[in-house]
Amino acid sequence: MPKKEKKLKKEPIQSPKGMHDILPQYQDIWNRVRVACQEISEYYNFKRIETPILEYEELFSKTSGESSEIVTKQMFNVLTPGKDKLVLRPEGTASIARSYIQHGLSQLGSPVKLYMEGPMFRYEQPQSGRFRSFHQFDLEVISSDDDSVYDAQIILIFLKILEQLKIKNASVSINSIGCKNCRPEYRKDLINFYKSKKNKICDDCKNRLETNPLRLLDCKEEICQDLKKSAPIIVDRLCYQCKTHFKDTLEYLDELKIPYNMDHMLVRGLDYYTKTVFEVFAEGATFALGGGGRYDYLIESIGGKNTPAVGCAIGLERVIEIIKLQNIQYKPKHENNVFLIAIGNAAKKKSLGLIEKLRESNVEVFESLGKDSFNSQMKSANKMASPLALIFGQKEAHEESVIIKDMKSGAQETIPILKIADAIKKRLSQL
Ligand code: AMP
Repeated sequence: MPKKEKKLKKEPIQSPKGMHDILPQYQDIWNRVRVACQEISEYYNFKRIETPILEYEELFSKTSGESSEIVTKQMFNVLTPGKDKLVLRPEGTASIARSYIQHGLSQLGSPVKLYMEGPMFRYEQPQSGRFRSFHQFDLEVISSDDDSVYDAQIILIFLKILEQLKIKNASVSINSIGCKNCRPEYRKDLINFYKSKKNKICDDCKNRLETNPLRLLDCKEEICQDLKKSAPIIVDRLCYQCKTHFKDTLEYLDELKIPYNMDHMLVRGLDYYTKTVFEVFAEGATFALGGGGRYDYLIESIGGKNTPAVGCAIGLERVIEIIKLQNIQYKPKHENNVFLIAIGNAAKKKSLGLIEKLRESNVEVFESLGKDSFNSQMKSANKMASPLALIFGQKEAHEESVIIKDMKSGAQETIPILKIADAIKKRLSQL
């Protein structure tokens, strides 16, 4: 007889590296964050837009920059049977700009204010606050001019969202990185400064010197820190328009009493930024919760008319992380609910209809009708922390009544089904 083959234990399949499920127990907090983002943006007249998760690769190489890390190292390429060069979107702004042009959204007026929420994908080394799949909430103001009132409004909305979520001590770092008139001069100065000091910078920065010198300023490597301190500062070299724009933006923030730190090293990773760039932090965060800035040439660079714009992206995983870190507690959403316990077949048959009646009267009902015994249904009611239980047995089903039980005091009362919704509401309002 052949030896019985040893059964290999199958390893359960895991989610891909750096990608996470959002489990049911975290949906409440996710919902709260999403609702805060939406409510506040909609108050400021932003309209929702949704774009596909896949885009043509060239959308990002033309906007984020051929030499940006996003394009060179972090793209998730998708092989299609038709050999289209598609990628999973690494960020939302370029997609929104593409859609704005494609659908002639300038017809909506000026400014066009849009928001989008959804997953983004970057092939990064996963670490704290950095994943391969993460969610951003994007806000974009696309306007016919580059009015700094919108740079300030974007920052204000970002902070109001954090305030609604009770996040403590948010702070703004801000800089201006100029425009196509003044930035090339600054770029030259920066290259001249670093050229003779190549042996004092990291290997990545040696490359950046050739491809994207501004990014030398936000290198985090130890070896590069000293030199950065004496590097030329861009705000000293802004042209008149950029200087005025920056000054106006800061004055709007002053007027709103929004404190900010001027960070001369802040340049951000995407090539499309012009003038204002900013990042937002909060107490206890070692990472930015989000960031943004102005992108006056992006729309033109992908075939649209000259249309200045400003926006930001809020990292939702990071916002949730900070809510946990700051130990922020919200009032539980489901405290005004009842738990229905049905005992016996006749009651169980009528229980779905009873739930419908309660739903029509806006009473939230939990149940575990698949369990037969009273005790196991009571256990479920305790787990849900429902303040009231409705006990619906054979006798009650026959008499068209329900017992209301106060879960704390244990007090019970029998109420006719016709009056049950009002009786529940009255009791819940007295808790
Ligand atoms: P960016 O699109 O690079 O300007 O990033 C804006 C915000 O998105 C960051 O401040 C983070 O909050 C979030 N974010 C960017 N990349 C990641 C990532 N790999 N994992 C988690 N959040 C991210």
